[in-house]
Amino acid sequence: MHEYGELLENVNLKKYNTYKIGGHSKYLIKPYNIKCLKNLIEYLKNNKIKYIVLGKGSNVILPDEDYDGTIILLEKLNKIEIENNIVNAESGILLNTFINKLINNNLGGLENLYGIPGTLGGAIVQNAGCYSSEISDYIESITYLKDNEIKTINKEDCDFSYRDSIFKKDKDIILLSASFKLYNKDKKEMKEIIKNNMNKRKSSQPLEYPNAGSVFRNPKDLSAGKLIDDLNLKGYHINDAYISNKHANFIINKGNSSSEDIKLLIEHIKKEIYKNYKIELILEQEIVKY
Ligand SMILES: Cc1cc2nc3c(=O)[nH]c(=O)nc-3n(C[C@H](O)[C@H](O)[C@H](O)COP(=O)(O)OP(=O)(O)OC[C@H]3O[C@@H](n4cnc5c(N)ncnc54)[C@H](O)[C@@H]3O)c2cc1C
Repeated sequence: MHEYGELLENVNLKKYNTYKIGGHSKYLIKPYNIKCLKNLIEYLKNNKIKYIVLGKGSNVILPDEDYDGTIILLEKLNKIEIENNIVNAESGILLNTFINKLINNNLGGLENLYGIPGTLGGAIVQNAGCYSSEISDYIESITYLKDNEIKTINKEDCDFSYRDSIFKKDKDIILLSASFKLYNKDKKEMKEIIKNNMNKRKSSQPLEYPNAGSVFRNPKDLSAGKLIDDLNLKGYHINDAYISNKHANFIINKGNSSSEDIKLLIEHIKKEIYKNYKIELILEQEIVKY
């Protein structure tokens, strides 16, 4: 497989997700480019080897068990092309790196999303958003790999909605790149917005502990964090998995939390919320199954 990308064996997955949980993966590969990725998928399918694509692992709950397959990281697919206000970027680029590049080119639209610690691909799958912006706001089209074919679709066909898209449901799709139409905006103004947003994040989120962002989606017109906080659940824990004292919609790993601890804590919160408010909380994070 090494001809398709940088190949690692028996990899501790704790280093590859922001909860810092999980077992070992038999292989982890970082394809050199899109052609290598396409050939790799063909090879894995022909040889019946399982695979999972991960970005920065900042929205996933990996299992505790070892994985007898291949984790694919697209961090080498990180090219950006800018022509006036049209920007095409590959999916493995870090969202913050991408936004910095836009700001340096005085291109506005995505600056509110600075601070989300994932890749562009992961952000599109989830239609990541914050501070009244979503990654889909300025997308024109998406290019992806499916059934060994590369296809491009327009934004209208991606069914973007609150933390959702067609890519979340179809695990056979690998996002390759996205095209955006942005607008001219002064970089100083955008840097100021980022500074304020980062201060808000630091004061309201438990960034000092491993976590994977908001655990639940906000129910319509309500805040999941407030519902959990109102039940005095902050600080409740199962082993090292804690409901953060800083933000009740964050679960933090205080050291040696397992995937199982986090999942049990999630079930406990869901049960309490349903018992008290008759509301079914929907998970924003993704429980990965091997
Ligand atoms: C401190 C913190 C703050 C956060 N704040 C926010 C926030 O404000 N708003 C928000 O929306 N989220 C937030 N998140 C959650 C998370 O960062 C985002 O959902 C992010 O977009 C996930 O990107 P990722 O690259 O880490 O994806 P991963 O977690 O690695 O993957 C998520 C899913 O996408 C799939 N995937 C990833 N890349 C591809 C690809 N190229 N092709 C196909 N499938 C792919 C994976 O298979 C997986 O199913 C936060 C997380 C943390 C830790």
